[in-house]
Amino acid sequence: MHDFPMTARKILVTSALPYANGAIHLGHLVEYIQTDIWVRFQKMRGNECWYVCADDTHGTPIMLRAEKEGIAPEQLIKRVHGEHSRDFAGFHVAFDNYHSTHSDETRHYAEDIFKKLKAAGLIEVRAIEQFYDPIKQMFLPDRYIRGECPKCGAKDQYGDSCEACGAAYAPTDLKNPLSAVSGATPELKSSDHFFFKLSDPRCQTFLRRATREVCKAQPEAINKLQEWLGEPGDNRLTDWDISRDAPYFGFEIPDAPGKYFYVWLDAPIGYMGSFQNLCARHNLNFDDYWARDSKAELYHFVGKDILYFHALFWPAELEHAGYRTPTSVFAHGFLTVDGAKMSKSRGTFITAESYLAAGLNPEWLRYYFAAKLNGSMEDIDLSLDDFLNRVNSDLIGKYINIASRAAGFVQKRFGGELQHQHLIDRFRADMPGLIEAADEIAAHYEARDFAKAIRKIMALADQVNQYVDKNQPWVLAKNPEHAELLHYVCTVLINAFRLLTLYLKPILPHLAKEAEEFLNIAPLHWADAGHLLPPAHVINAYEHLMQRIEGKQIDALLAANRESLAPATSAPTPEPHSQQRHAEHQQHVVQQEQKVKQAPATSGKPPASVAVAEPSISIDDFAKVDLRIARIAAAAHVDGADKLIRLTLDIGGETRQVFAGIKAAYDPATLVGRLTVMVANLAPRKMKFGMSEGMVLAASDPDDKNAGLFLLSPDSGAQPGMKVK
Ligand SMILES: [Zn+2]
Repeated sequence: MHDFPMTARKILVTSALPYANGAIHLGHLVEYIQTDIWVRFQKMRGNECWYVCADDTHGTPIMLRAEKEGIAPEQLIKRVHGEHSRDFAGFHVAFDNYHSTHSDETRHYAEDIFKKLKAAGLIEVRAIEQFYDPIKQMFLPDRYIRGECPKCGAKDQYGDSCEACGAAYAPTDLKNPLSAVSGATPELKSSDHFFFKLSDPRCQTFLRRATREVCKAQPEAINKLQEWLGEPGDNRLTDWDISRDAPYFGFEIPDAPGKYFYVWLDAPIGYMGSFQNLCARHNLNFDDYWARDSKAELYHFVGKDILYFHALFWPAELEHAGYRTPTSVFAHGFLTVDGAKMSKSRGTFITAESYLAAGLNPEWLRYYFAAKLNGSMEDIDLSLDDFLNRVNSDLIGKYINIASRAAGFVQKRFGGELQHQHLIDRFRADMPGLIEAADEIAAHYEARDFAKAIRKIMALADQVNQYVDKNQPWVLAKNPEHAELLHYVCTVLINAFRLLTLYLKPILPHLAKEAEEFLNIAPLHWADAGHLLPPAHVINAYEHLMQRIEGKQIDALLAANRESLAPATSAPTPEPHSQQRHAEHQQHVVQQEQKVKQAPATSGKPPASVAVAEPSISIDDFAKVDLRIARIAAAAHVDGADKLIRLTLDIGGETRQVFAGIKAAYDPATLVGRLTVMVANLAPRKMKFGMSEGMVLAASDPDDKNAGLFLLSPDSGAQPGMKVK
């Protein structure tokens, strides 16, 4: 039933599973839109490409939320599945299958993998101590424990980190801890947990050998891997807890009553479950894609926060259960809006549903994200002014305009018919590069550098518009003697529009479909770039294909998403992203690093607003800051931290350890021996990686993260320990 050429690649693609406990928002959509564009491109190329995903449906948050709503968890996840499916469809994210982890297929593979890992001696049972709610009779995840920060004393903080001072700690460090579920004082209680032995020499050896390949598409991911794995013999990998105790909503572990599979042996197996479900409906062979000897390609698109999991744990799990491992993992950065973290109070925590409800075109966002996505792990920023300008100028001003300028003449003067002659040679001469660009643009799509693809396509659109300006069809139309030339120019323009449509089609699938109807052609495939419309082809009447964005539409969107600052409740905030909920520590690291980078005076302000000088302070205020010349005695990467470098600073006989968020700008090796300036009397701060005993000074542009970071240096002659004033 599937008709693919013999040369077609077999490709299976996934996006991370969104958690069935919250709405899809624009931050999620960065990943789904990115994946969808890539999949659509592969399909246009004639490859056999399947895109599967599923809701991640298990866990304590789902169980408790269903209980609060007075419904069964099955009812909750069914409703959310409907909402998620609607939102994805609204943004033209076209999964071949959107399944659920609460499925027979996922259960089958979870049990299968568990049994095989157990047989291989890679599962171990260990007793661990955790907080237990004696009233609710359940173990409490970190996020469900509240108490006073052990460092600053702020009340009502989470069990893993303080929102007031940013400190990270274990739930057992909290003062006066309370269960957020029942309000009871939790008790420490021991329980047996199952662990996957990632520290086993077999896993280490395998990962050292195999996962560089998995991350080869991204040099920054290779660096992370190097950090995580260390040198041979380092044994940095730790075993992963893969079970939770009842009560829990999930799959019970075979022969272990009351024990349930935790996310690491459940959610990602949803990739396999969803694909198995697709196989049954499309008569595909599961083993063609998942057996150890599979020749198919397997790609996972994920956020950088779950790269560790997808590049280390997941391949080790698959390898030792006898399945194939991923061809590649493609990690992306997070979304910021106007340079800052998405914020409910500013209205920039924008849900997919609200965007569509405000009447904004989903393809505007697809285009904007594509223009920013370059296949790296950098964060991407949705700058709302830039969004409006770019969509209006590129899509309306450069691209749509070509069709609207030519179509009227073809319709009115030539009955919708294009010229009778074969144009290809003349077209190549008049529009140099427009046909030939197909390979270059395809290479950019293949490399997930959509930004480069768009730059190339828009450069071609500029060239077409120059052709319009040079030939001025509206002037030709006034002189009957120029009818043939007018016909020719318009035929060239319609053909140019068709090619640009083809190149943009992975990004703008709905617009391309309407353009195909206007052009009166079959759906465009990549190979169609090699020819033009046939002579005397008849097009349909032109109807406007896309509207401009109005500023007031964006204002209305922000207003719709702005929440009044309601008093904080003791309910945990919903974890916004899939497996991210289980990567709380990594999430926390990111927050820590952001804080480290901010000078104390600006912390808490959106960087975009820090354009002017801070309020005046007295000389006495300034004198409180003890600035010293420091010599960087040692500098090293920090295992598990994206942005931090661990500095050992010599300030004249005394040494200090400081974690500095300067990794993006400096290689630790080049820092050793340098002099810089440090704040020596900043209160020490406990971080996940250890104590940070001060701060080094660096310059940066708050409005332009890409402008770089510049560590201060004294003139030569300064000595470690000298006071700076
Ligand atoms: Zn605190």
